Amino acid sequence: MSDYTMTIDGEAVRAPDTFGVINPATGEVAAQAPDCTREQLDRAMAAARAALPAWRRDEAARRKALQTAADLLFAQSEEIGRIITLEQGKPLKDATTEVVGAGVWLKYFADLEIPREVIQDDDRALVEVVRRPVGVVAAITPWNFPLLLAVWKLAPALLAGNTVVLKPSPFTPLSSLRLGEVLRDVLPPGVLNVVSGGDELGAWMTAHETPRKISFTGSVATGKRVAAAAAPDLKRVTLELGGNDPAILLDDVDPAAVADRLFGAAFANNGQVCSAIKRVYAPESIYDEVVEALADRARAAKVGDGMSEGVQYGPINNAPQYERVKELVADALSGGARAAAGGGPIDGPGYFFRPTILADVSDGTRIVDEEQFGPALPVVKYRDLDEAVARANGTHFGLSGSVWGADADRAADVAARLECGTAWVNTHLALAPHQPFGGFKWSGVGVENGPWGLYGFTEIQVIHRAKR
Ligand code: NAD
Repeated sequence: MSDYTMTIDGEAVRAPDTFGVINPATGEVAAQAPDCTREQLDRAMAAARAALPAWRRDEAARRKALQTAADLLFAQSEEIGRIITLEQGKPLKDATTEVVGAGVWLKYFADLEIPREVIQDDDRALVEVVRRPVGVVAAITPWNFPLLLAVWKLAPALLAGNTVVLKPSPFTPLSSLRLGEVLRDVLPPGVLNVVSGGDELGAWMTAHETPRKISFTGSVATGKRVAAAAAPDLKRVTLELGGNDPAILLDDVDPAAVADRLFGAAFANNGQVCSAIKRVYAPESIYDEVVEALADRARAAKVGDGMSEGVQYGPINNAPQYERVKELVADALSGGARAAAGGGPIDGPGYFFRPTILADVSDGTRIVDEEQFGPALPVVKYRDLDEAVARANGTHFGLSGSVWGADADRAADVAARLECGTAWVNTHLALAPHQPFGGFKWSGVGVENGPWGLYGFTEIQVIHRAKR
């Protein structure tokens, strides 16, 4: 029997079956989650549809509910943080920060204006452009930031007057189920429904007749399936997909001065961040120094169970991802790459992997060309800057990237040439609620956050009043 319940029409709902959620620090089942049936999903969708008319009418109530939701997350950040560490693996401090971050996002959207623009007001007509809710939103999330990425969807969707059916990743369903439980007294029944199950449940949601919008965060491969499933019904989609973010170092950069920030942005959340640095391009003149500076930090990093004090990096979240990182690192090493630090898993239970810096590796190697999504970073040597920019752009990915140099204007000029949704200068991974986030090319469709993220949960309506 599961301790965690789904939320459907404001009620706690158990399913006939459950599935085990594994603690990645031990490899053992830590809790059971309900395995939502088709009939239960139908009920969640029906509840979301029924809740729409009243919810979309009362903007003040929506703002108040988002504020209250934020306050509840702040108050319970440590308790919910423990759930995130249990299912995701990240250190408790980071998990608690994730919950607080979710509260910050809720507060931002609680106060965000929903624009109503007058675009013509003359003797012929008053023409206004207003934003209407899309309807029921199907929200589907991955396992790296289970709570924060759910809130990135819920907060703008609910502010705009939509109702939501949320499905977390089967690897990390517990914190989202708990979110549903916590918000049961805050949101009217049916406004937020939380269901849990396997990948199939996601496919049922995208094919379901009720949602008018799918907001999806996950891999490119699944994102394409979601887009295809949405097409016959012309459902609106926002897709936040994978990245293979390059960091280009210019020849005037001081490796020692930027190594902490580079390492931090590559290994945050154990490398399991869509917009983490996934490949570093370093000029020949400072290549060895860059590799050593990064390797020093990798060797010093404290890896362990996220519940233990002082741990900086937890395990990889799940067995398939652990196998994938192992495979990509082994492939690079067998192709002639050198492990300047790490290079393989840590013995013992759990999905632990040594923070790895790979040198003498280049484009054409899988770990450079593909998204590793784990604690292993390739450092690629370049001679010519134009060639480095071309290699950085020579991919289907286009989530984000960064350029690092002592002359910030020169670095900004290079950053402007990157084909990606966010181009950072002398930083990477700087994200904020007011800053739109999304990808070029296969990294996504649409954006989240800021007013632009809100617009993704609205339809534009023109109100044209003739004056004569
Ligand atoms: P995934 O695509 O395997 O799963 C994501 C979600 O989709 C899960 O809830 C899963 O159950 C569901 N799903 C699976 N098959 C489905 C289908 N056919 N129809 C509908 N839903 C389905 O991704 P993941 O392994 O959980 O997450 C890792 C990926 O997510 C990485 O590629 C990472 O870069 C990406 N990501 C992107 C962002 C971003 O904002 N761009 C943020 C975080 C993670």
